[in-house]
Amino acid sequence: MKFGGSVLRNGKCILKASEIVRNHCLRGNEIIVVVSALRGVTDKLLEMSIQARDRLLDELKANMEEMKGIHMKAAKEAIKNYEIRGETINSLNSYLRELENILTGIFHLGELTSRSQDYILSFGEKMATAIMNNTLRNLNLKTVFLTGKEVGIVTDSNFGNAKPLMNLTAHNVKGKLEPLITKGITPVITGFIAANQKGVVTTMGRGGSDFTATVIGASMAADEVWLWTEVNGLMTADPKVVPSAKTISRISFSEAVEMAVLGAKKMHPRALEPAMQANIPVRIKNAFKPHLEGTLIVRETELRKGEIVKAVTLVRDVSLITVSGSEMIGRPGTAAAVFEVLGKSNINVMMISQSVSEANISLVISRKDLEKALNSLEIKLLGSNLIQGITSENDVAVIAVVGAGMKGTPGVAARVFKAVARKGVNVIMIAQGSSELNISFVVKEKDSEKAVRALHEEFNLERIK
Ligand code: ASP
Ligand code: MG
Repeated sequence: MKFGGSVLRNGKCILKASEIVRNHCLRGNEIIVVVSALRGVTDKLLEMSIQARDRLLDELKANMEEMKGIHMKAAKEAIKNYEIRGETINSLNSYLRELENILTGIFHLGELTSRSQDYILSFGEKMATAIMNNTLRNLNLKTVFLTGKEVGIVTDSNFGNAKPLMNLTAHNVKGKLEPLITKGITPVITGFIAANQKGVVTTMGRGGSDFTATVIGASMAADEVWLWTEVNGLMTADPKVVPSAKTISRISFSEAVEMAVLGAKKMHPRALEPAMQANIPVRIKNAFKPHLEGTLIVRETELRKGEIVKAVTLVRDVSLITVSGSEMIGRPGTAAAVFEVLGKSNINVMMISQSVSEANISLVISRKDLEKALNSLEIKLLGSNLIQGITSENDVAVIAVVGAGMKGTPGVAARVFKAVARKGVNVIMIAQGSSELNISFVVKEKDSEKAVRALHEEFNLERIK
């Protein structure tokens, strides 16, 4: 069971999360707990690392006080037992002292590496997990607190976005946790953080606690991995756009990955991989409504047949770039040149399309990257006479229709575009991958919600099970 920052808002929430764990233990389950930083803490620590580097002392001090306040208050709210509470406050104090020392070092050096930044970020998970662990002890569970490093998650040295070395990790984790579980002890583990082969602390990318949970679940051959969040599960559409949107009870790994990438629920894009490989179902559940079933992510073969489309997602804050030139026709390497420029500028391309005439290539990127993308494309390519024009549109959105059942089902695209056309919405660009898991297209932002509602209705998603 992994508890995310959206669930861990304060001491009361930590107590609630701990009661969920205890209740499931009392029913005879063996549980491993993974904890992420309290809500907003990782962002705050990131901010503090930069403030230290830039020597913004007043801001840094104020944030340090805030960190102290948030965690101390949470510990006092969650833990009633006098002795356990005292122990918690002691360990929080020593974490906070260490954090302050590191920030002071960075302040004096005026230099922040991704390695030291990862170490700073690790305090969010360590402090939250210390509180949660002691809250569970206070509820009479036998527990052991472990960091990602202590439990044996070994990653590469790609600080900030490290990837676990699965074989080694699985061996370590099993060796560490199995004896504890057999003795009826509940391991309580920091999410997000691990260590490289030299033992230097790494982090596994934002939202990485989900990843920790599936890595541990796969290593232990768990029955299920449960991700506790503040939402009921994956939904057929954003309920703010479509009030009749439903929680999807079962979805396949590949569909869920598609939805994670498209930002339906902010999920770590690689988090499902270990579970998918080990064939361990992943359940997304609402910690504030634990009686609800949530969404179960399973192998495709375990899904009901006949459901073609599962969800309609809307991605806002994107821009469309079109690169054109008659010289591009029949000339190999043009697309490569465009993507190389963007890749070197560290810009992620979300969607691509080129017509057979090859006179232009359209691509969609995150709106925050637009200026950087245009600048680098103009500097590197406009002079090359390969490309005559680069245009962009800002007021657009991407709509993606997701569902494994679309694969090999004729007529889905026709239904999609007919439904959109009926509402008078113009489609600017279209893309479908050969996986056929989704059909994506671009419309004007002002039309986007209308289009989402039309599609939700067309595929009867309010009746999905
Ligand atoms: N605390 C980390 C983050 O905010 C990891 C996580 O939440 O899963 O990205
Ligand atoms: Mg989080």
